[in-house]
Order: sequence, then C-alpha cells, then structure tokens
Amino acid sequence: MRLKKRILLSIILCLLVPLVVIASVVWLILRFQVQLISVKYNVNTNMIEVIQNSPSIFEGLAKDNYRELLETVTANPSRPEDTAWIRQKNEELSDKDSFLCLRVDGEIVYVGDQAFFDTIAGELPEYSGAESVDEQSMFVEGQSHALIRQIDYLTPEAKEASLFIITDINHLLPQLKHTIVEGAVALLVALTITTVIVVTLLYRSIVRPLTTLSVAANQIRDGNLDYEIRESKQDEIGQLQRDFEAMRLHLKEMTREQLRFQQDSRELLANISHDLKTPLTAIKGYTEGLLDGVADTEEKQGRYLRTIHSKATDMERMVEELVFFTKLEQQVMTYNFREIRLQDFLNDCIEESRLDMERDGCTISCSEPGRADLTVVFDPEHIKRVLGNIIGNSVKYMDKKEGQIDIRVQEEDDRVWIAVSDNGRGIPESDQQHIFDRFYRGDSSRSTKKGGSGLGLSIVKSIVEAHGGTVGVESKEGEGTTVRFSLPKMKSTAGEPESETDGGKKWRKKKNKKS
Ligand code: ADP
Repeated sequence: MRLKKRILLSIILCLLVPLVVIASVVWLILRFQVQLISVKYNVNTNMIEVIQNSPSIFEGLAKDNYRELLETVTANPSRPEDTAWIRQKNEELSDKDSFLCLRVDGEIVYVGDQAFFDTIAGELPEYSGAESVDEQSMFVEGQSHALIRQIDYLTPEAKEASLFIITDINHLLPQLKHTIVEGAVALLVALTITTVIVVTLLYRSIVRPLTTLSVAANQIRDGNLDYEIRESKQDEIGQLQRDFEAMRLHLKEMTREQLRFQQDSRELLANISHDLKTPLTAIKGYTEGLLDGVADTEEKQGRYLRTIHSKATDMERMVEELVFFTKLEQQVMTYNFREIRLQDFLNDCIEESRLDMERDGCTISCSEPGRADLTVVFDPEHIKRVLGNIIGNSVKYMDKKEGQIDIRVQEEDDRVWIAVSDNGRGIPESDQQHIFDRFYRGDSSRSTKKGGSGLGLSIVKSIVEAHGGTVGVESKEGEGTTVRFSLPKMKSTAGEPESETDGGKKWRKKKNKKS
C-alpha cells in the first residue's frame, strides 16, 4: 500500500475507531441504565426517547400513580384525609423512591418521608386552583433534588388542598452522571488503543525501513558494498530502498571497474615497457652489428637495416597507441571528417597492407566492395586505424597456414556495414562480450609473444562510436572471426564539420569517459 494511502487510512482509523467504540459503549450503558430505570420507576420509555429528550425519563416517573390519585381525589375530595388510605398509597409509592404529602389550607397534614421532606420543605409549589390539572412534574432543587407532581382540589369544606407526589431523584441523577463518565472513559480507552495501534503500524512501515536504510548507508560509508537490502513493499519507502540498492550495486560495479582499471593500467605499463624494450634491444644489436662490420655484405647490411626499420615501426605503432590511449583518457579527440568514396578507400587500405600480409602468410581480399560510387563521411585517418587494428588482430591471431582475410561492404538504408572476416583461431564465447573493453586481452594474447596491450579493439569501438556507428563480433573457436562495424552514410550528429567536403577542417568532440 502506498504511504500516502496508509497515512490517510491511519487518520481515518484514528477518528473512526474511537467514534464507533464510544458509540457502542454509550449505547450499551444507556440501554442498561434505561432498563433499570424503566423497571424501577415503571417508566415506559426507550433509548431513542432518552437520547432525543432526556428529561422525558422524569416525566414518566410515577405517572400512573398520579393519574390514579387524580381520579380518586376528583371523585372523592375527602379521601386524602383518610389516614389509612393515604398511608396505603404512600406505601405503594415507596419502592419508586416516592412519597405523598398533603397540604390543606397551607398546613402540612401528612408527610410520607419527613426526613427527605425537610430537605425540600420550602420549595413546595403554591396552590394554583382546583381546575388546573397539570400532568407535568416539577423539578425542585433544595438541599436535595426532587420531582414533584401536584394535585390541587377543594375539600368538601371548601378548603384549598394540594396532594403532592414527591420523588427523590438523588439516585437517578448520579446514575446518568455515571453514564457520561463511563462514556468519557470509554472514549479515552478507545483513543489510546487506536493511537497505539496506528502508531505501531506507522512505526513498522516507516521508521523500521528507514532504520534499515540508515544501517545500510553506514555500512556503505564504512566501505562494505556487499550489505544488501531486500525489499518487496510497493510503497514509497520500498521504492527508496530499491533505489538505494540500485545505487549500491552501481557503486560496487564502479569500484570493481576502477580496481580493474588500475590493475589494467599497471599491467599496460609493464607490457609497454617490456614491448618497447624488446625492439630497442634488437635495434641496438643490429646497429652494433653494422657499426662493428659484422654485416660485411651488402645483402646482410640490407637485412639488418630492414630489421631495424621493422622494429622501429613496431615501436612507433606502440607509442602511437599509447598517445591515442592518452587522448582517449583525457576525453578529447580530434576528428577530421570528409566525404570519401568507400570502395577506393578500402582498396587503398588493402594495397597498403597486402605486402605485409603476404609476408605473414595471409591473403587479403575484398569480396563485396559495395557500389563504386558509394560515398560515406568519415575521418579516413581514424577509420584506417580501425581497419588496421581489426586486420592486425586477424593476422596476429591467425593459426592457419593459409590465412585468409576478407572484407565485405553491406549497405543499409542509412548506414554502411564493413565486416572483416578471418579464418583464424576464433574467440571463445565467454571472451566475446569483453573484447571491446579497454585493456581486455584474451588468453591467446596473453600467451603469445604477439599479444598486444588490449587497447586495439577498445580504440576501434571509441572511434566507430564517435562516428555514430556501432561494432560487433561473431566468432567460432577454431573457425574464424568476423568483426563488423557500421558507419552512418551521412555524417553523424556526434560532431558537425564546417563543410561536408572541407578536406580537413577539424573540430573537437567531447566523449563520455567509459570505465
Ligand atoms: P590485443 O592488443 O590483446 O590484441 P585487442 O583489443 O586488439 O587487444 O583485442 C582484444 C582480444 O580479442 C585479444 O586479446 C584477442 O584475444 C581477441 N581477438 C581480437 N581479434 C581477434 C581475432 N581476429 N581472432 C582471434 N582473437 C581475436
């Protein structure tokens, strides 16, 4: 459940539960009280009446007795002065907390309960006329609380007489007061229970996950990137925990990459130093041979010089690769885009490398050169380096006597694919996804003298992507490898030349650093 919904529900619960509980408790208490009152005072009332009009309870008190007395007194006004009769009626009223009182000509001639009567004595209403019949009772508050019903009549001697039914309601009022106090206590209890439940629920759904997050953050601060948070809740805090977990994984990956990069850089330095040292030693040896006259024939001297040249070329390539790599690291690369006829460009590249290929026992061809008039916008120097690196690898990792390297061009709507295939040793499937990573070297590269720096294909990828293209590889161990890259037919939006065929105006493109 979303946090917003949960908080809303909690507020509703906080309001609703106490209301329901208090309503139920008050209802039960009232029912019980009303039943008690009904039985005791013979009041014919119900819950609704009590709630709508509470004084109605009092109205019903001893009403039946009142009517009976009224009837008797009206029919026989001398009856109340019959002591036996009045005592009997007084007796009938006693279990309703009531008693009779008779006043004749202003003098009290009978009182059923003298003690209680004394507490309200001065409060008795005046005689108001025999003809006025008032069923309503009267609330009197002296030292005690009482309810009085009054029957006024004239005695046979024409004296003004009043017969009172006095009801002691001092027991009834506290009962009602108790109901209110009990209701208030029930409300307090209900509020406390609901608040405890709601706060516990909120604590569990908000504070606990936040504590987990805080612990995880501390772990990460202390360098423990393996501290995992498992969360399946769908609310905002669950989302926060998932984001946190994603951040942790990203940080872990970055740290791993950084460590690998440092390791690879150290390895590269060691490799380059070693690789530079080998041709340097050879050049030194052959030069000394020339100086010392060991190469005493023209043919020998020519061979020595060619070897020196070849070793110097290797060194040049290595240094170039290093310079290029440094530029990549600095994230600044200069491109010089031009519109080039692809077929001519490929033929030139092939011709340039044909002699070296043949020397290494490989033949190179271009079985599908593409349309003769197909032009593509690219930086020829950089794409030559791309082809050089790919073809160089084909030669480097060739394990067949008759190595064959083939170039094919395939056109798509908006791009051109250039594929270089060889029949070399192939790349293990597990290596294929890594070969474009910087410093990645397969086993074949590590275990042979021909191995390079592990930068060749990452440079290929960087250059191709800077042109707006992509690279890919298909390979089968023992059968061969095809490395293919695409170039957009029109110049990429990666950078804009000042003129499409400006023949060499340069611009710079910032590249994102890849770890
Ligand atoms: P290196 O300097 O090691 O050649 P590259 O980045 O050029 O680095 O290539 C990465 C790895 O890909 C190589 O170490 C090699 O294992 C593998 N590789 C690349 N091209 C080929 C190929 N044509 N045949 C077999 N393996 C290849």
